[in-house]
Amino acid sequence: MENRIETRINAEIEEIERRDREINSFIVLDKEGTARKEIKKGKLSDLKIAVKSNICVEGLKATCASQTLDNYIAPYDAGVVKKIKENGGLIVGMTNMDEFACGSSGETSYSGQVHNPAAMGHIPGGSSSGSAAAVAANFVDGALGSDTGGSIRNPASHCGVVGFKPTYGVVSRYGLIDMAMSLEQIGPFARDVPTAALLLEVISGHDLRDATSLNLNRDFYKFSEHLNPDLNGIKIGYALEFDGLILDEGIKRVIHKALDELNSRGAEVMEVNLPNLEIALPTYYLTMYVEFFSATRKYDGRRYGHKIEDVCGEEVLRRILLGSFISQKEYSGKYYKKALMARSLIRKEISDVLSDVDVLVGPTVPKLPHKLGTKITDPMVMYAYDIFTVTANLAGIPAGVVPCGKVNGIPTGLQVVGSALDDQKVLNVMYGFEKRDNL
Ligand code: GLN
Repeated sequence: MENRIETRINAEIEEIERRDREINSFIVLDKEGTARKEIKKGKLSDLKIAVKSNICVEGLKATCASQTLDNYIAPYDAGVVKKIKENGGLIVGMTNMDEFACGSSGETSYSGQVHNPAAMGHIPGGSSSGSAAAVAANFVDGALGSDTGGSIRNPASHCGVVGFKPTYGVVSRYGLIDMAMSLEQIGPFARDVPTAALLLEVISGHDLRDATSLNLNRDFYKFSEHLNPDLNGIKIGYALEFDGLILDEGIKRVIHKALDELNSRGAEVMEVNLPNLEIALPTYYLTMYVEFFSATRKYDGRRYGHKIEDVCGEEVLRRILLGSFISQKEYSGKYYKKALMARSLIRKEISDVLSDVDVLVGPTVPKLPHKLGTKITDPMVMYAYDIFTVTANLAGIPAGVVPCGKVNGIPTGLQVVGSALDDQKVLNVMYGFEKRDNL
């Protein structure tokens, strides 16, 4: 039986390899079956899963798409990977990404640019570029990404798939190669909400090996069982500030159409205010620079691969240098301390708004993915993609993306954001929206 599955998977991996020449979504395809030595039966039986290259799968390379770790073979399974294996998921390989998860486009990878299967010639978004692209190209049923400032939601939006960032602490970060630990969560990608909910159900749960992991009632984690598309009476907030920050008229149109659709399915859409929305971006970047700098100090070339500063790309180096500068200046409390204060303000503002409504909905990205080959020299232009996603990371709250339409043939996703631990509510609204055409 196991042999039969392995023969089939091997044939499918060969097919992925052939088709991926055009997409470049994988860095490693597990042809030897290293991650499938013992195939169990469970909730994920028969489902092919891809894993972002910053999450450890024993025996496979976890390079973070950086030359720094080009020969790093993970010596153990991350908490989430162990659970996927125990539940019968078939891990097929490690996906391409922005180097060390620093980026929003999939262009900073040492393993080459990822292409967008849903909009060829355009970036797929990032940093979990390969995971989103592998799902969009139908190579796998689900994939894992990590989201520090939008890295699951941004590529989900650009590639037309579902992506979900859970409440901080709901999914174990054990075995995740950190980018910025106070902001980052692992989460699922899939082509539909039920599959994303199922994958989340499998990977979530308390893990003693992650000190930030929450220990919640068992019932909390039954996301797939509790999935409910009924939108009747659900209060949905739309922040008035969103419209002024969306840079593309087409995206604005699609998002407003989605609001009408939610309304016609029984939800009550109300206008709310997030006056401090714009300070989320600088707050995120200041916090992330410092934490990223600290996370990269272990890459001094003695224990793992190469010294990071010797081999990394421009964006990673910029973040290391800025993080180092801010950390040195910190005795005067000039930057990081201020960022922490702003973070508290942002957290309070969004949780106050969320106490009046069930969820917020809005755009995921302010603009359409740029064309491959466009030279973006100003980092602020790239950072601008993250304006609508970073708030959920700063506040540690759940946020998911579900495809909501196309602009000039390019997908764009609706973002749904909830209060801390309202992951189920967010998934339910995503599901209700996804089912709008089928009922
Ligand atoms: N685009 C953001 C950044 O470059 C988010 C990255 C992420 O979520 N890993 O920092």
